[in-house]
Amino acid sequence: MDAALMYGPGDIRVEQVEVPECPDGGFVVEVGAIGMCGSDIRNLTSDSRSGAYPWIYGHEVVGRVAEVAPGVTAYRPGQWIYVYPLAHCLKCENCRSGHSEQCSEVEEYTANPGGFAQYIAYSSKRVDRGATFEIPDGVDPVRATLAEPLSSTYACLENIDVKMGDSVAILGSGPVGIMLAILARMRGASQVIVTDTNQARLDKTVQFEIDALVNSAETDAVSEVLRLTGGRGADKVISANPSTIAQQQALLMARKAGTVVFFGGVPKGSLTELDTNLIHYNGLWIYGHYASNTMQVQRSFELSIDPRFPADQLITHVLPLFEINRALELARSGEALKSVLLPNGEIHR
Ligand SMILES: [Zn+2]
Ligand SMILES: [Zn+2]
Repeated sequence: MDAALMYGPGDIRVEQVEVPECPDGGFVVEVGAIGMCGSDIRNLTSDSRSGAYPWIYGHEVVGRVAEVAPGVTAYRPGQWIYVYPLAHCLKCENCRSGHSEQCSEVEEYTANPGGFAQYIAYSSKRVDRGATFEIPDGVDPVRATLAEPLSSTYACLENIDVKMGDSVAILGSGPVGIMLAILARMRGASQVIVTDTNQARLDKTVQFEIDALVNSAETDAVSEVLRLTGGRGADKVISANPSTIAQQQALLMARKAGTVVFFGGVPKGSLTELDTNLIHYNGLWIYGHYASNTMQVQRSFELSIDPRFPADQLITHVLPLFEINRALELARSGEALKSVLLPNGEIHR
């Protein structure tokens, strides 16, 4: 089969490899469509596996079940499914307390070869745990690839209860920032402000009816957010980018008793200096957001295939697998919002 093998940081080659064997009690999926995620870009362009190459990444998998091990009844060949990359155990304490996003028995998806290939295998553990969703007839599998990136943004806004009348400032207008903006609006926020240092990325967001776009390379984003919110600051501020400076600014943009979310991870080992007096006297809630619980995973899948969700505007590029390097470049330059690769060519359903 064709697979995009990573040989080192930024060195990705589409080559022929063996089709994975169907594990005992598991199944194999023919990858129909797979999204290119911010974390894929980070993994593919840094020494993410400390020299252990070649490796196949890719985790936003939608495809057709190709093979099922004897005795497995949960899947049938030909069935189209979306596979959430992390299968929660639903048995550990974190899972049982409603925080399956912190499952202590989770099977790390980066431990197994990913979906930038024509086929991907799943273990018996996955069969037991599920976290796969059937794609109804008539739904374009390409849009279902958004279910995974949508899940953490959906969960974030639900957890901080963005609601009617809220003002929300989002730092970062990558795909995650834009999804946060779209969902904040859907939840009834009255004012959505998005900031970014990259004008090309900001230009891409004009179509999403965001109230204010702020180029933080040219203007002081903090005073601009304060001005736009009548001097009060935003009810909810979400830092959705890898910058420690943005995290510092987020505190200054929040209103008294407001909520500040650290959504995007920063480079490993880097520390952010915070004015804790600001947090203390302004009564700020600081919330670190990561991933989504099992119900939020399901709800965001349902949202991704809902025709009212603007998936077509978010997915700006659909490319064959052999153009994976182009997909990387399009994402890095800000030209693409979300790119989806088709490892088995055009999809006919
Ligand atoms: Zn992803
Ligand atoms: Zn668990």
